[in-house]
Amino acid sequence: MDNMINLIKTFSGVFLVLALISWKADKSGPWVTTKGNRITLHTRPLNHSKTPSPDSLVIKQIISEQEEVIDYVNQKLKTNFNGPVEIFLYNYDEAKEKIGTNGGGFASMNGRQLFFTFYAQPVFNTLRNREEYVGVHEMVHIVTLNTLGNITTSFFGEGYANALDGNYGSRIENNRMFRQRNDSTVARMKLRGRLLTPSELLYNDSIPPRAFYPQIGCLVSWLFDTYGVEKINRLYPVKRKNIEAQFLEVTGESFVEMERKYMEYQIIRQ
Ligand SMILES: [Zn+2]
Repeated sequence: MDNMINLIKTFSGVFLVLALISWKADKSGPWVTTKGNRITLHTRPLNHSKTPSPDSLVIKQIISEQEEVIDYVNQKLKTNFNGPVEIFLYNYDEAKEKIGTNGGGFASMNGRQLFFTFYAQPVFNTLRNREEYVGVHEMVHIVTLNTLGNITTSFFGEGYANALDGNYGSRIENNRMFRQRNDSTVARMKLRGRLLTPSELLYNDSIPPRAFYPQIGCLVSWLFDTYGVEKINRLYPVKRKNIEAQFLEVTGESFVEMERKYMEYQIIRQ
């Protein structure tokens, strides 16, 4: 029950931190290592710390969840990433010290390792209609690092992760945790006059993550639907200063025209 209270505090008070940062994780053991097809999962032994470690059943669920997530990301991005990926799952009470956060995790810059916090209670993702322990966001970073190139802008780097995840943060309803959908968050921001333009999302580096992540997720998802993922994939590794020119080159439409269409689409949706 104590764990549950901690969990509720974490999810209700703070947005999930889902940053891709070059934090040096402390990978020292002991670990229980379980292999899937493309995934190797490292978890803590039972009773390792005061908050729970996953048992063998949950370990199987997490591996199968993440194997499915790889397929989902490949299907959405038309990529064919086949691993391997190592996932290190830290118990909640040690995660902050070992990986710098207990509100999610991060992917390594080499695209081979993913570090994440273990929550005893999975969170329901209404878009994918299933419970998730690790979810989609960090695996998108892994797949794109391996197939599309390094992250050169947060516009596409975080844009892809948030578009495919479709959620940012979580909320509690009737004692159950749900991921917070980007489209509902952006709808609320629109009502408060806080819809950001594609230019702002590309050039303004001081937008807080709680506004940037849902908005860039909605924009990139719309870019996929409007121009096709293959074309947007070609823009993924482009440097920020070249994106507007390359956008025209790849899609045949100017960035300004795209911006006008996107804002119109958002206004009509309201
Ligand atoms: Zn990220």
